[in-house]
Amino acid sequence: MSVGIAILGSTGSIGRSTLRVLERQSDRFHTVALTAFESADELEVQARETGARLVGLVSRSGNSRASGFAQRQKWLHGRECLVEAATHPDVGIVVNAIVGAAGLEATIAALSEGKRVALANKESLVMAGDVVMRAAKDGGGELVPIDSEHSGVLQCLAGQTSNSLSRLILTASGGPFRNWPLEKVKNATVDQALAHPTWKMGPKITIDSATLANKALEVIEAHFLFGLSYDDIQVVVHPQSIVHAFTEFVDGSILSQLGFPDMELPILYALTYPERIDDSGVRRFDPVAAGDLTFEPLRRDAFPTFSHGVRAGRMGGTATAVFNAANEVAVHRFLNGKITFGKISEVIDVTLSSHEVRPADSIESVLEADRWARVEAERSCS
Ligand code: NDP
Ligand code: MG
Repeated sequence: MSVGIAILGSTGSIGRSTLRVLERQSDRFHTVALTAFESADELEVQARETGARLVGLVSRSGNSRASGFAQRQKWLHGRECLVEAATHPDVGIVVNAIVGAAGLEATIAALSEGKRVALANKESLVMAGDVVMRAAKDGGGELVPIDSEHSGVLQCLAGQTSNSLSRLILTASGGPFRNWPLEKVKNATVDQALAHPTWKMGPKITIDSATLANKALEVIEAHFLFGLSYDDIQVVVHPQSIVHAFTEFVDGSILSQLGFPDMELPILYALTYPERIDDSGVRRFDPVAAGDLTFEPLRRDAFPTFSHGVRAGRMGGTATAVFNAANEVAVHRFLNGKITFGKISEVIDVTLSSHEVRPADSIESVLEADRWARVEAERSCS
């Protein structure tokens, strides 16, 4: 039977890749709901092409558009559309491809309703890992990561007993400033930071990859997904982005999933997990074309944001929500030319250092910490 899909953030990088995967797999899946923030024109085209019945635009500025749509499409405006799409009765899988904290509520709502969430929005887990995992347990939902590193780990865990995992080594491309001296990194421009060497992604995660905040977010994501302590989640720089992660078992064996950097494969796996299905559209691997695979240590001095993120993870409770919020504020300010690249890590450090950690045991406590951190981070930006 065909499974109904909701794509939250369908106009973004992951959203568009998901639509390409679904187009090839139209006998197994059909698109029920699509949402975007403000890209009304693209959303309109996507809605027409997929025949989605529920279409949501978070920004209210595009109200007039709804009149042009076919009668059988229901258009919603405002942020409520996210939860409505995520909990639609005809939806079996929610692909959460929203960027940032705005994705949290929909993740929790979908899991509470027993849906599978194919999660690209790592910020959901970073902000509220315990709440999200509890929502899945209590609601009967299932959380399957799209992030390539975590998808790689999940694939290596297939068929293993639950207590056999001992350590993860996540790989990081190192971003555009991998070899730059510290002083030069601090003054990198927006264009330089947006020029990622191996992945083509939305602007926020591209900056996160340049500061290595993304890798800290992924360490925290792995902690919640796979239940390992922070001591057992390590990171190595691998500039080619071919090996997505090393999964170590208690006997010392390592398994890895490999592939060219292309998110369509982990998206497909998150939709079909634990099954695998044929997909002729995915670029096949060629070891010779992949060339040399190299590994090097992460330069913590040049990328202090990484250390702040892992520190937040170890602090626990609301600290990870604070790290995430401060990072979002600082990245936004950097992209708008208001602060330097080097200031991003300072803003995060100052915000995290002045935070009094509380238990992150409810969505309210997480959102309170998120709000507090945004105010603090804005203050230290100016
Ligand atoms: P993009 O910026 O390309 O797309 C973001 C999507 O979310 C767009 O559809 C955008 O709509 C929508 N959106 C933005 N703000 C809001 C909001 N406040 N409320 C609701 N919707 C919103 O991001 P990416 O696709 O690159 O990343 C999405 C998520 O996936 C992030 O969490 C990222 O870390 C993660 N991820 C991405 C990877 C990649 O390769 N891109 C790899 C691994 C993880 P609009 O177009 O209207 O602005
Ligand atoms: Mg990743």
